[in-house]
Amino acid sequence: MNTSTSNNRLDRRTFVSGALVTSAAALLGSSSVGRSAAPAFRPAGAPHALPPLPWAHSALEPHIGRRTIEFHYDKHHAGYVAKLNDLLKDSALATLDLEQLIVETAHDVNKAALFNNAAQVWNHAFYWNSLRPDSGAPPAGRLGKLIDTSFGSYSAFKEQLASAATTQFGSGWAWLVLDGSKLAVIKTPNAETPLTMNVKPLLTIDVWEHAYYLDRQNARAAYVQACIDSLLNWEFVAQNLG
Ligand code: MN
Repeated sequence: MNTSTSNNRLDRRTFVSGALVTSAAALLGSSSVGRSAAPAFRPAGAPHALPPLPWAHSALEPHIGRRTIEFHYDKHHAGYVAKLNDLLKDSALATLDLEQLIVETAHDVNKAALFNNAAQVWNHAFYWNSLRPDSGAPPAGRLGKLIDTSFGSYSAFKEQLASAATTQFGSGWAWLVLDGSKLAVIKTPNAETPLTMNVKPLLTIDVWEHAYYLDRQNARAAYVQACIDSLLNWEFVAQNLG
């Protein structure tokens, strides 16, 4: 895939997946991009594809184990893709891009299964790219300033993200989003996603039990803290910020 050509085709709705592709390219090197089909660029009506992991299954150890990623990506994420394609058989919605499908089916009880599986496909692709083996130093420059003006300090941001992730009751997601001119932390239950809200998602942490149970059983807070302290992909956040 030629990234510059792809970028020319981006509209507002496909922006976020474009950022995913760009981030994957940055992490993996441009030669690996052509091997994968990003959901937003699939031929109209073709099955949705499982996007590639941006790193090896064991890359996040010791914080998130290889076996967790094997189940989470190869079973859970792949399962959402398979179920989504199953639900789209003979459906007029099969021609929509993933993001359009999510927006189209949101808040419609008759399309809840489609929404849940489509949103989980998207959320997980966003989650893999939100993490990286070594997050390095806290963000500087424009992003660092934005964190300070939005939360007061980087440590205050970390506390808010940890609080959202640990207090989400049951399954769901914690997010860093751009809300107008400021950053904000939000949480969503189940498959709910900021794509259906008037904010731009920048980063997410999956807090479904399958994200941490093999590694840490019920200790969600320890998983969340490890993500925040060691695994956040600030390059991806900066790309999503634009
Ligand atoms: Mn998950």
